[in-house]
Formats: sequence, C-alpha cells, structure tokens
Amino acid sequence: GSGERADANSEFARKYNLDDKELGTGAFSRVILATSNEGTKVAVKCISKNGELKQEDIDSLHEEVAVLRSVDHPNIVKLYDFFDEKRYYYMAIELMEGGELFERIVKKTFYNEMDARGLVRILLDALAYLHHRGIVHRDLKPENLLLKSPFNDFDIKLADFGFAKKVEGKSLDTQCGTPGYVAPEILKGKKYGTAVDMWSCGVIVYILLGGYPPFHDDNHAVLYRKIKAADYAFDPQYWDQVSDDAKDLIKKMLVVDPDKRLTASQALRHPWFMVGDHELISRN
Ligand code: ADP
Ligand code: MG
Repeated sequence: GSGERADANSEFARKYNLDDKELGTGAFSRVILATSNEGTKVAVKCISKNGELKQEDIDSLHEEVAVLRSVDHPNIVKLYDFFDEKRYYYMAIELMEGGELFERIVKKTFYNEMDARGLVRILLDALAYLHHRGIVHRDLKPENLLLKSPFNDFDIKLADFGFAKKVEGKSLDTQCGTPGYVAPEILKGKKYGTAVDMWSCGVIVYILLGGYPPFHDDNHAVLYRKIKAADYAFDPQYWDQVSDDAKDLIKKMLVVDPDKRLTASQALRHPWFMVGDHELISRN
C-alpha cells in the first residue's frame, strides 16, 4: 500500500492519511489521494528524497511552492500544505477528481468549438493572471490541466507549477518544457519570458480542435526544426469544419517572434471569443 510512503508519526502523517489510490505520476513525484483529519479529500504530491534529487530540483520545488502560495485564482489549483520531512516532501493540493485534460481529449477525440472556447477562455484567464504577476508556467500541456469533475468537460484548473518561475521583469534562459509544446525561442537558446506560455497555449488550442498535435516527429531534431519555423498546417481533412476565427487565433499564438505573439489579455479579446446569442440559440 501507500502507507509506507508516509514518514511515520511525522507532522504530515498526523494530519493526512494516504489512501491506496495513485492519481498520477511525474518525473520525480507520485500523486496520491489522501484524506485530512477533517475529512477533506486532497491530492498529495510526494517527492522522494532518495538521492535522485539534484540541488536544482530542490530549488524548483521550493519555487513551485512559493509560486503556488503567492497565487489565488479560481482556475489555479490551491496548495493547502507543504511538508519537508525526512524521506519525502509532501504537497497537499486541491483534489481534481476529473483527472487530466489529456485523458479527456483522448476519450472525446476532439472538442467541438463551443466546448473548446469555454476551456480556452479559462486557460487564458489564468495565464493573464499569472503573466500580470510576472509568473511564467513553462510547462503548459493537457497533462497539466486538470478537470475538477468527471462529469464536466470545462471546469479546468492549471496545475504542476514544477517549472514555474517568477520572472519580475528579468528574462530566463533555462531550457525546459515538453518537446511538442516548447516555444521556438527556448529551442534557439534565446532569453525568453511569459510569451512561451502563449506558444504552448496555441499548441493546446490546436490539439483541442484538431484532435492531434501541430508539431510532431519521432526525431527530436526534425521536430525542433519544425517548431523553430512554425512549420504546421491545418489539414483540410480535419480543419474544414473549424471556423476561420479559431484558426486565426491559433495562427496568432503560433508566431515564431515572441514580441509579435498575442499576449493572454490580447487573446481574450480575439473575435473567436465574441460569440453572439445567435450561436447559442442555433446550437440548442
Ligand atoms: P510532475 O511535476 O511530476 O509532472 P504533476 O504536478 O504534474 O507532477 O502531477 C503528476 C500527475 O498527477 C498529473 O498529471 C495528474 O495526473 C496527477 N495530479 C497532480 N495533481 C493533482 C490533483 N491536484 N488532483 C488530481 N490529480 C493530480
Ligand atoms: Mg506534470
């Protein structure tokens, strides 16, 4: 069971009981369902101190905690508690029972435009909030967008701040992220900022509406070359039914030059979000 994962009699173990259910795994972590003394169900991200952790990983963990503690937004997961114990670090996080958006897309194949619009609006709203505070997420992808409930396709929250960073006007140069979602300026080794999240957001919108990723190649060198050139297409077979407004929004996010890419607040004012009542009526 997961019982042995708790440092016995520790502060964590006195407040939370780990259940025998794994919610997910990441590079260094296992996320396990737990119940607090007060009966609240939470997700606990357990990071083992077994020696694989480098100093830079420990630093990012503390940054993840600091960033999560500094934010308060309805579409960003809440961090309830953080424990630094003998064998593990534990983060008690708001439970997202619907799992990863990634799994939901796989199940649905793709989102219809109205559903995608609701979801993207939420994502952009959370990004505008973060970017306004000088915070870059740096690992936006459907695996890190979690759904509150198994019965609702839109109630998403942004999670996994493992690469997040407060930039405070400075720019960053660390190479990180996930291949298919990473922005060209990161691959080119340039200084970068909050615009990298907008690139990943463009990739996510493409996947939501198209049902497959804009940049794909089993060979990383080829994949990176395509990303650096924004070499992607709206294959008519999958995109004929999609509105020109949606494609235009994607085009303005997947822009190689970060200075010309839409910001989150600009994207929220894009015509794709300006839906009149006629659409709502005709869909019902
Ligand atoms: P990593 O930084 O190791 O990728 P994440 O924070 O992304 O860790 O968590 C890994 C996975 O665990 C997620 O992709 C998700 O499936 C699951 N998970 C994480 N946080 C929660 C949560 N609050 N509620 C439910 N599942 C979660
Ligand atoms: Mg993750």
